[in-house]
Amino acid sequence: MIGLDFADGLFIYLTVWLITLAILWGRELWRQKVNDWKVSSSQLFTCDKCHYAFLTKENTNITRCPRCNSMCLVRKRRGL
Ligand SMILES: [Zn+2]
Repeated sequence: MIGLDFADGLFIYLTVWLITLAILWGRELWRQKVNDWKVSSSQLFTCDKCHYAFLTKENTNITRCPRCNSMCLVRKRRGL
């Protein structure tokens, strides 16, 4: 049996909780960074077929329209 007094047990308990909270906090910061939307005019795209405006992800050349499901080529706009 491991000899452990109350103070050492409390210290270990609090340390484990602080490490758990730090891990969860770091995970939440990472999730906010990954799922954060940064809306800009370069991401706004209008479907040529149904004229529905929607947002695309950065660095994509081809996407699907969410309304009519047709393939849309994303053209790079200059000067915007
Ligand atoms: Zn469309």
